[in-house]
Amino acid sequence: MAIPPEQEQSARLEKPQAFVPPEITYMACAQCGTQIAGLDGRYACSGCGWVNEWTEGHRHLPETLA
Ligand SMILES: [Zn+2]
Repeated sequence: MAIPPEQEQSARLEKPQAFVPPEITYMACAQCGTQIAGLDGRYACSGCGWVNEWTEGHRHLPETLA
C-alpha cells in the first residue's frame, strides 16, 4: 500500500460524489457597477460582459482535480 489510509480518505472527499451545491454570491460589477449574482465567487456581468478571474472563485473547479 503506497497511500496511507488517512490520505486516501481526504482524496475521496474531493471526488464529484461528495458534491456540494454552489453558493450564490453577489457583488457589483468591477467595470459598470451593476449588481450581479455569481456562483462561489465567480461572476459574469450581463450588462457589459465583464467576467472575473476563475481563480477568484471560492472553490476549485471540478476539472482541476483530473
Ligand atoms: Zn458590468
